[in-house]
Amino acid sequence: MTDHSRSATAETPARRELGEDVRRLERPAPEALKHHFTVDVEEYFQVSALEPYAPREKWCEYPSRVEPWTDTLLEMLDETGHSATFFVLGWVAERMPDLVKRIAAGGHEIASHGWGHRRVTELSRDEFRSSVRRSRALLADLVGQDVVGYRAPSFSIVPGLEWTFDILLEEGYTYDSSLLPVRRPGAGYAGIPREAFRITREAGTLLEFPIATWRFMGATIPAGGGAYLRLLPPSLVHAAVGQFERAGSPAMLYIHPWDLDPDQPRFDVPSLTRIRHYGGLARTRARVDRLLREFEFTTIASTLSTHDRGRRRNR
Ligand SMILES: [Zn+2]
Repeated sequence: MTDHSRSATAETPARRELGEDVRRLERPAPEALKHHFTVDVEEYFQVSALEPYAPREKWCEYPSRVEPWTDTLLEMLDETGHSATFFVLGWVAERMPDLVKRIAAGGHEIASHGWGHRRVTELSRDEFRSSVRRSRALLADLVGQDVVGYRAPSFSIVPGLEWTFDILLEEGYTYDSSLLPVRRPGAGYAGIPREAFRITREAGTLLEFPIATWRFMGATIPAGGGAYLRLLPPSLVHAAVGQFERAGSPAMLYIHPWDLDPDQPRFDVPSLTRIRHYGGLARTRARVDRLLREFEFTTIASTLSTHDRGRRRNR
């Protein structure tokens, strides 16, 4: 038994909170395995860490840069022949509807990143419901397709906020990809499986696709993208994807358009935030390109439909 499966089957408080049925999804045949490359479509000034320096009421005054950098990602995906899942912020979709349509026209999946990028830890249940309902309705309307996936800002579904899964199910979502399986201040959900699994709630069963991590000497290290992709040695991210590949399970990677934008206007932030947010911007594009050339990727929706077909066959 590997470390990997030990971590996935451990009985933890998290497992009890999420329901008894935390089994992993059936694994695809090794030759059919594709990973998930995902993009959180938001502006450089909407990052949670920058909130005190880029107040929400000024968002409309900052120059927008999300469109060209999302287009860059679309070109890179097109060049390497992969499809991806784009978690689009309602705030962005309302202002740039053509961008959302262009992403969908490229054969990619549109999913929701909520409306206004407020951490779930700061929202009431009604505010959370309104954010996921409003963004889903707008996105579905723009692309003429059902929107079934959600990702919270900044890994902010933490232990104690399991009611979010009920609301997602009630609002028509079938999967979530918000959980980071490590504990962090105000973020992360330690003790869950690293691989995709089912969350059983009163409202039904939600599929969860946690952010990729790397297991090393008994520790679980976030390695799924964003700042980790910019700041960690690239070999570590490749090693993490390799671990998932050997386990026969898709790895969940994520990036923001601003992660590739070295010339974005910079806010005067403390040094730690500066490193976390602005470190390595100039090298992200080459790193993403290497990942796209080394591994196979597809949309989460496509993995779900393969999974459903498999289940029907086995009935
Ligand atoms: Zn975000």
